[in-house]
Amino acid sequence: MIGAGHAGLAASRCLADRSIDHVVLERGEVANSWRRERWDSLRLLTPNWQTRLPGHAYDGEDPDGYMTAGEVAGFITRYAALTHAPVRANTTVTSVTRDDEGYRLATSTGELRARCVVIASGACNLPSVPAVRSAVPAAIPQFTTFDYRRPSDLPEGGVLVVGPSATGLQLAAELQQSGRSVTISVGEHVRLPRTYRGRDVLWWMDRSGVWNQRYDEIDDLTRARRLPSPQLVGTPERSTLDLNALDSMGVQIVGRLSAVRDGCALFSGGLRNMFALADLKMNRLLDTFDEWAAAHPRDAGENAPSERFEPTRVPASSPWQIDLRDGRIRSVVWATGFRPDYRWLDVPVVDEKGHLRHDGGVVESPGLYALGLPVLRRRKSTFIHGIEDDARDVIDHLSAYLSGST
Ligand SMILES: Cc1cc2nc3c(=O)[nH]c(=O)nc-3n(C[C@H](O)[C@H](O)[C@H](O)COP(=O)(O)OP(=O)(O)OC[C@H]3O[C@@H](n4cnc5c(N)ncnc54)[C@H](O)[C@@H]3O)c2cc1C
Repeated sequence: MIGAGHAGLAASRCLADRSIDHVVLERGEVANSWRRERWDSLRLLTPNWQTRLPGHAYDGEDPDGYMTAGEVAGFITRYAALTHAPVRANTTVTSVTRDDEGYRLATSTGELRARCVVIASGACNLPSVPAVRSAVPAAIPQFTTFDYRRPSDLPEGGVLVVGPSATGLQLAAELQQSGRSVTISVGEHVRLPRTYRGRDVLWWMDRSGVWNQRYDEIDDLTRARRLPSPQLVGTPERSTLDLNALDSMGVQIVGRLSAVRDGCALFSGGLRNMFALADLKMNRLLDTFDEWAAAHPRDAGENAPSERFEPTRVPASSPWQIDLRDGRIRSVVWATGFRPDYRWLDVPVVDEKGHLRHDGGVVESPGLYALGLPVLRRRKSTFIHGIEDDARDVIDHLSAYLSGST
């Protein structure tokens, strides 16, 4: 097993249940990414009641709250202890190669051999930043979520946040609240209200079965795997953080960053269409929830009546370009997503875009598996509560492979 995040630990538990001898190699400590790679104010966008791993669930007094990154690290660390996971910490896997007997792993603490390898090294190891970053004038410091921790890391003055998904919206809001004047560049996004008909919107995703949809039932799987994270934030007030909320705070909304030329950031038009599409998709999802509630009154329980939300407001005027040399923008924050890092994997299973070639976590190399990737086997695959079903299925396959029945 490579990686002692929640995915690696859940799979370790499934392996232990089948008495399959294994070790979990971790370059840092258990829950490393929650300890080292998150900004200070981050809270889960999934509620506490949903934070569960095989045999371990949140049992505190605030089921509707949202954990801080430190609390998530604690939750995962307790899980590792509870399951007696055989974690070898501070062991970086530097190479994995295949031979006739299985896999040879080179690590920072020595070599290992294994008949099977499960890659649970995470889907978000590196920031995914567009190439235009190199055209941003050198005087403007640039940040990704790997080096941003808090507003005071940034110089005073205007900030351009690029990316309108969960991360971009959360950072734009906190930077604006810190007194900086924020401009957010908006491309395709997934809009969701925090609560719907009196319940957390993720309750509806869960109960109506949307999140359980299997990868082999999804029409455009490539697209589903590329979808940005929904515009959500976990706050004690359970407030909705969408573009209307940012607009009300005074954040300037501009189109998708298309280029940086001669020091000027150029933005695409078409905000109206982009907003209409995101609103339409949100409303379709809410329709699905309403239909499910009408068809399953007992499961749905008592809920507030159906709601529809104000369409995303199109700014009266939105600049098509901003001169990055005129002093209005003093820093740029790239909230343009994440990508996995497989530079250590010397098996030819990574495509030209850097994604693993796999079928529901069964990688195109016998005995090699993956967990924790977007829509790996279900829509919920990358989320903490999504790992249980995926880990069980993938370890079932691995177990059959070891016994020679696949
Ligand atoms: C900003 C952000 C917010 C998120 N919010 C939520 C949320 O609200 N709710 C939710 O359910 N999910 C959320 N997720 C998604 C998901 O739960 C996390 O990405 C989670 O960390 C993924 O778990 P994982 O075990 O797959 O990977 P990770 O937690 O990244 O664990 C992978 C482990 O592998 C180790 N590793 C990597 N490479 C090597 C190597 N070569 N050798 C040895 N070890 C290695 C890493 O150190 C790491 O500990 C969020 C993700 C991000 C990035």
